[in-house]
Amino acid sequence: MPAGRIHSIESFGTTDGPGVRMVVFFQGCLLRCAYCHNPDTWSCKAGRETHPADVLERFLRNRNYYAHGGITASGGEPLLQLDFLCDLFELAHKEGIHTCLDTSGAPFCTLEAGRYERLAGVLDLVLLDIKHTSPHEYSSLTGAELAPTLAFARWLELHNIPMVIRHVVVPGITNSEEELCGVSRIAKRFSNTQAVELLGYHALGEKKYKKLGMSYRLAGVPPLRDKELAWARAIVKDELQK
Ligand code: SF4
Repeated sequence: MPAGRIHSIESFGTTDGPGVRMVVFFQGCLLRCAYCHNPDTWSCKAGRETHPADVLERFLRNRNYYAHGGITASGGEPLLQLDFLCDLFELAHKEGIHTCLDTSGAPFCTLEAGRYERLAGVLDLVLLDIKHTSPHEYSSLTGAELAPTLAFARWLELHNIPMVIRHVVVPGITNSEEELCGVSRIAKRFSNTQAVELLGYHALGEKKYKKLGMSYRLAGVPPLRDKELAWARAIVKDELQK
């Protein structure tokens, strides 16, 4: 099995999928989300070469701690290393380990859907990030197009793969009532949606940009307050129930 490039591994993650999980941060991402707090994962050439069997071995060493959990592939963008991702999840499935993919869906291309068939057989859950519901705003926030993300959601639906829609709520950018209702409407469009998770924007990544000598596009944007997040969650919940 060929090696992949990973940025890092979080041994005991509790926010990216059910239970306690090993979160594998893949190296490389083609998006440039304004609020990204992991710009050090962008370069496809950085990170370290890692074999899927080594990741699995590390998981198995601590298997008792991962009660009701499993392995989550995050990043960066795991779909950019599709073969490595499939190899890792195949090994995990052979051991009866739950697999979860945290993705923007951006690399997906309907014309190449055949390349993804192997993944469909070893994928238990997807956390799909809908960064903005307006194609125009999506492009300005990420530098990429919204359409592949929606195409990937449709592909997941066709394969009956459960999906949790995620959305980062950024003050002044993705926190309007219209936008939040839009996220709910997208979630309702797909029969495989299990939930919508809203994540509040924080500015913790700003320091990383400074350290890397990069400018931070959201400098001055305040973190989302708890009560604003609660308001956003109520809007989404209402719209989902309509
Ligand atoms: S998709 Fe994720 S890793 Fe890539 S730029 Fe956006 S937030 Fe950062």
